[in-house]
Amino acid sequence: MKVLVINAGSSSVKYYLYEMPRAEVLANGVVERIGQEGSNLLHYVGGETHSEEIRVEGVGEAMELILATLAKKDVGVVEDISEIVAVGHRVVHGGDEFTGSVVVDERVIASIEKFADLAPLHNPPNLAGIQAVQRKVPGVRQIACFDTAFHSTIPEVAYMYALPYELYEKYGIRRYGFHGISHRYVARRAAAMLGKGKYEIDAITCHLGNGCSVTAVKRGKSVDTSMGFTPLEGVPMGTRCGDLDPAILFYLGDKGYDVETLNRICNKESGLLGLSGVSNDVRNLAKIAREDDARAKLAVDVFCYRIKKYIGAYTAVLDTVDALVFTGGIGENALHLREQICSGLTQIGVQVDRDANSGAIAEEAEISTKNSRVKVLVIPTNEQAAIANDTYELAGDRLPAGSK
Ligand code: ADP
Repeated sequence: MKVLVINAGSSSVKYYLYEMPRAEVLANGVVERIGQEGSNLLHYVGGETHSEEIRVEGVGEAMELILATLAKKDVGVVEDISEIVAVGHRVVHGGDEFTGSVVVDERVIASIEKFADLAPLHNPPNLAGIQAVQRKVPGVRQIACFDTAFHSTIPEVAYMYALPYELYEKYGIRRYGFHGISHRYVARRAAAMLGKGKYEIDAITCHLGNGCSVTAVKRGKSVDTSMGFTPLEGVPMGTRCGDLDPAILFYLGDKGYDVETLNRICNKESGLLGLSGVSNDVRNLAKIAREDDARAKLAVDVFCYRIKKYIGAYTAVLDTVDALVFTGGIGENALHLREQICSGLTQIGVQVDRDANSGAIAEEAEISTKNSRVKVLVIPTNEQAAIANDTYELAGDRLPAGSK
């Protein structure tokens, strides 16, 4: 059964065509720089890369290009687009309405539209992808996989902010959490690596990519996570500040900074980039820090320190911790940062084995010492595989919508 996975953002659409249930990627690719100069398609099939420079104005056009490419004579992998039985979409914000992936219907579309207010950069392109498929492949079954769904199990005590209760009632201001598809995927993999059932594991999962979040997983379910009402809260990220005294914003407001400027500063000019003044990429920062750049070193130090604080906090939230998991571009590759984050955590049972850590790059590995009470694991995330899996299960009508 052929399943197409779509991750549509405002400037790019990524796609993966899977043969399920064997989870083989038949072709994948990305339409980049949508609506900008130099937009292009990169299509990977059979070990070859096919690249095409083509003006693409919106997500709808990008989807048309992807569907046409998949059915092309020379580089395509299907005779006809109707061979695709189901399409799974990553959708960033499902608010508090979805506890799992669901089959898309009018009600689901209305909810995605409704929550666009909370994720104005993400939900509209996600929805545009769904609607383009509806137009081009009418009747195909579509599944929405929400980044917020895994966090629907977070209890009230962890999702409520200590603001006037009316703000929650009136505007839905609460912690929602993000990166849920990734946290769920690595939590399940961690359980499998430790020989446990998926609802038997207690873990702290660190998704460290361009965006970063840490999640406390109890018995396979999210019980707290560092991102909040938006993906700005929590640990510092490439360009985002993470947790902040909110009064800093009022203070800067008094100094004449408007809301738009403050938004830009916190989302685009802070984090590793803001502190170092040179880069949001830890690869560059590590190099520059070695050349004695004090701010590059500070940026990395603050980043690691703040993640370590969350690990401590979530150790307190969980009764036991079986595993500490690293994933995302940084978590999977930046071994020095993993070591720095875990340094001094011996008293909470975390001990990294230097050699095992050095050898663990972009592959599943256990990097803790034999005596470490908490297993430290590196697990490359695979959000597309998780979406393909949910899509396959729901498209087959084997499970009622909302139950995954
Ligand atoms: P996204 O959150 O957009 O999916 P990624 O998970 O790909 O991003 O993470 C991107 C970040 O991961 C980069 O900015 C970089 O800091 C880090 N990274 C990627 N590859 C490496 C590597 N080989 N070594 C160290 N850090 C890396």
